[in-house]
Amino acid sequence: MKAAVYKADGRIVLEERQVPVIQDPRDAVIKVTLTTICSSDIHIKHGAVPRAVHDTVRGHEFVGIVEQTGDKVSRFRPGDRVAVNVETFCGECFYCRRGYVNNCTDKDGGWAMGCRIDGGQVEYVRVPFADNGLTLIPDTVTDEQALFVGDILSTGFWAAAMSEIKPADTVAVIGAGPTGLCTMMCARLYGPARIIAADTDEKRLELAVKEGISDVAVNPAMADAEKLVKDYTEGRGADAVLEAAGGNDTFELAWRMARPNAVVGIVAMYEEPQKLPLPDMYGKNLTFKTGGVDASCCSEIMKLIECGRLDTSCLITHRTKLENIMEAYDIFENKMDGVIKYAIQV
Ligand SMILES: [Zn+2]
Ligand SMILES: [Zn+2]
Repeated sequence: MKAAVYKADGRIVLEERQVPVIQDPRDAVIKVTLTTICSSDIHIKHGAVPRAVHDTVRGHEFVGIVEQTGDKVSRFRPGDRVAVNVETFCGECFYCRRGYVNNCTDKDGGWAMGCRIDGGQVEYVRVPFADNGLTLIPDTVTDEQALFVGDILSTGFWAAAMSEIKPADTVAVIGAGPTGLCTMMCARLYGPARIIAADTDEKRLELAVKEGISDVAVNPAMADAEKLVKDYTEGRGADAVLEAAGGNDTFELAWRMARPNAVVGIVAMYEEPQKLPLPDMYGKNLTFKTGGVDASCCSEIMKLIECGRLDTSCLITHRTKLENIMEAYDIFENKMDGVIKYAIQV
């Protein structure tokens, strides 16, 4: 079978691989039907994810059909259509019991697939802890609608929850790329007065406003984004700021946009260390929350898709087949041709 594999020299190549088999009774083998490329795949390619293992198959955002299950898998059976969670987790360790599945202490726990073990840019993939890491797709939900449940929608859902958004708040989201747009969609679930999107890409801002994902858009390269947020909030700043861009100056923009006592949620994956200039923010009494998603709410997200409260269909700007994934990597990495997300048919 064909698989997109990460090589030691930083290249990603399409090569032939053996179909995986069940290794543990809690495993399932999934026949991938639709997969995609995430910006984390690009971070791996840039060498910015030190724990990523060479010669593993890429991909951690995909949907498919259960092909085979281990003896201890009880919630799924062959033929089930499923969305696959970016994180595999045991459900039993200290962190899992508290919902912090990103830090599952099992050797295959946390973000393993497409990072430390084989992922889903491939025809078949082994998913450890299948009972925890799969979500049934209802018949009324298409593969495209379910494609982002396990990763960028989970990230947006987690980011919105940790930012403590209240009804009528002003929420600023930095980054109108795939994760930023999902973050805005999930922030909307909390009933904010307005969502302000900040990005330097005018096309992405246009999409955010046109689709009603954000109410206001600002390009910090062209306008004073901090001032604009203050203008909307009687000089205070945003009640919650979510930073999903990971640029050179976006961390600073995030805490500058925040009003005193706000939560600043950092979901971006930076490639370089960031400065936390405490003297400059003294007295703002900010709360910073950071990290990688705890993707443990996939069934809630699936329900919201099923009833029409979450709809990511406008994010899929490009469609192709697995054999063309190298070209897709090139277009996605270089943000060419107005790409937001690929749907890659397997
Ligand atoms: Zn990802
Ligand atoms: Zn665990």
